Amino acid sequence: MNKFRVAIARYRKKTKSLKRAIELAGTFNDLSGTEKVFLKPNIVYWSTAPDFLKYGVITTSRIVEDTIIILKEYGIKDITIGEGIVNSDPKDITTAKHAFEYLGYNKFKKRYGIKVINIMERPFEKVHISEGITLNYNIDSLHSDLIISLPVLKTHSQARVSLSIKNLKGLIDIASRKKCHSADTERDLDFFISRLPKNLPPTVAIIDGIYTNERGPGYDGKMRRSNILITSTDLFSADKVGAKILGHNPLDIPYFVHFSEDNNRPLDFSDVDIVGKTIESVKNYHDYKFPYSDDGLHPIAFDKQGIKGVSFREYDNTTCTYCAIITGIIPLAISYAWEGDPWDDVEIILGKRMNPTPGKKRTILLGQCMFNKHRNNPVINEIIPIKGCPAKVENIVEALHKAGIKVNSEIFENLENIPSFFGLAYKHRFNEFHESFFNENVVDEAVPPIDDIGVSQFFLDSNSNLNTHPKKQAKFEVRFFGLFGEKSTNAIKNIIVEGPHNYEFKFKSQLFDFNNGNGYIVDNLNHGMIRYLAFDRNGYLDDGEYKIIVEYWNDERCYKKRNLQANRKILKDYLEVKDKITYSFEEKPKYLGDPRIFISTKWTPLKNLSGINAYYANFVSEGKTDNINLHDLTFADNIFVNSILIPSYGLNKASTLINTRWKPLKPNTEYTWLTEIYDSNKLSDINISINQPIQYFKTI
Ligand code: SF4
Repeated sequence: MNKFRVAIARYRKKTKSLKRAIELAGTFNDLSGTEKVFLKPNIVYWSTAPDFLKYGVITTSRIVEDTIIILKEYGIKDITIGEGIVNSDPKDITTAKHAFEYLGYNKFKKRYGIKVINIMERPFEKVHISEGITLNYNIDSLHSDLIISLPVLKTHSQARVSLSIKNLKGLIDIASRKKCHSADTERDLDFFISRLPKNLPPTVAIIDGIYTNERGPGYDGKMRRSNILITSTDLFSADKVGAKILGHNPLDIPYFVHFSEDNNRPLDFSDVDIVGKTIESVKNYHDYKFPYSDDGLHPIAFDKQGIKGVSFREYDNTTCTYCAIITGIIPLAISYAWEGDPWDDVEIILGKRMNPTPGKKRTILLGQCMFNKHRNNPVINEIIPIKGCPAKVENIVEALHKAGIKVNSEIFENLENIPSFFGLAYKHRFNEFHESFFNENVVDEAVPPIDDIGVSQFFLDSNSNLNTHPKKQAKFEVRFFGLFGEKSTNAIKNIIVEGPHNYEFKFKSQLFDFNNGNGYIVDNLNHGMIRYLAFDRNGYLDDGEYKIIVEYWNDERCYKKRNLQANRKILKDYLEVKDKITYSFEEKPKYLGDPRIFISTKWTPLKNLSGINAYYANFVSEGKTDNINLHDLTFADNIFVNSILIPSYGLNKASTLINTRWKPLKPNTEYTWLTEIYDSNKLSDINISINQPIQYFKTI
């Protein structure tokens, strides 16, 4: 039997690692130098927002450039990079321009004399992929002599794995992409994916596994630094190897089965000759499914949070890109809307195939396809349609509100920020996640950079033993997203604050508590993330520019600055009305058989008493203590992070549901809680922090 060679290599060095893999597999052996070559990277999504998460989502520019360099060495002159990015607005072409610029493709154009095209701005040509079935492919790829499919090594929530064959879907137009997500149970998405390479010019695979993605294809998966490269002249062989490395048997991938039947190819490895590393030596299981409840009616995250009264079915492979983009956002918006009171038996269905559950009170039909299918369905009590393809975000918000789910419209109005929100988990994890793989202008960090600073006046309105400390203080905070665990504080030698009139203050390298008022916090609610917090108890600060300088163990230094401008109005109002502020808590009834404890903490916002706007953040820790235990919080309403999704988050907030998603509340246990008042929900913009009197609750 003729065997297809597949090389597996570890990515170690720029260009050399890929070159070695290509030589081992003979990927470019048939090139004479005169061919037109078309490179198809995978840019499954793009956002112009800063810190947009690319690891495991997008092919690294390192591998794209290495491929060009190696092709040049083989004498290839005519090279085109082409991709068709889809986002929520089908007419948008500026996002693709931004992507190509950021990823360095325009530089490659000048440096190597190549072409870069946005497939969505180019003509398409019909290609027969099966009897009576055509798809519209980009003309440039069709008229090339060789296509190089450059996908990311990832699992995929619909297709199970997304590798070199699936990556070709980016060559077809929007109408063809929708066609692929057919409701037909035989000619379904898996059938279409398996036919994508049919009648294309010769196509080879270079799979980029520098970063891999569990539960891709998008930014809501779990990213890993894996340093794997796979290449072959045969897409199916490369993909079988890729799937196996991700822990999936080719037999279990439905589109592999279609491909195997259509091309008379085995699903095992009997026609594959693996060279370089073995599968076993690089294998790393990546799940493809987002966890759902056993009945498939809602994401497991709803269970963890205790959400009741709404079902959001696991989406099937008939859901195409536009609905799929929304699919990840609706559960997020629902989880932010949850206040502990069950909704009134609402079901949301989407895609092209789902049927409503009889007896539900309200059924939201998401997308034009669901509306067309069920507009007259008699089993639905109350239809709430979200028409359109793509569905308009304002219609989604309106429909959810109509169903009684008061989602915050800001989440949908700021879709651009969502990838940055997911990206926070990888930001400045400087040992593994290097932005320079996507943009050569980014200098990778050798030390954990400062992520955020706080410099504010601090008013301590204590009702506890902390009364011995002055009420008027200055508060400083430094956050490092890349430092985890107490040992990592060794990376920091000194932190110094410099301000107007020769002001200077030094942070101490010790565990923080409210008595020493100066040190680092090991935030166990946040995987042991380190932040430094210190109070200068000599009174308020003068207005002016403050600089926080961090000196690292290797003598590197960095700093961040901010301008402090005292916000006296909020403090004045607070002092005038503070006797009217009430604090209370309410334990939610253990409803619908959920034995867990949910508590709502409540307070009177200044808005209700003096009319002034302010932001409120709630913290809870176990035990009855003088102040919150910041090292071991039970709950923190992180307004700084949440405001990425909801820009006004925390504004005039009057309550918080302490849910059990992260750390369950224990029965018959005392807890300490605090609501701080700020004049901003951006740490670096806060001028005044008011530590309101500490409160307590005891669970039943
Ligand atoms: S409404 Fe949704 S499922 Fe239907 S074609 Fe549009 S994106 Fe696809």
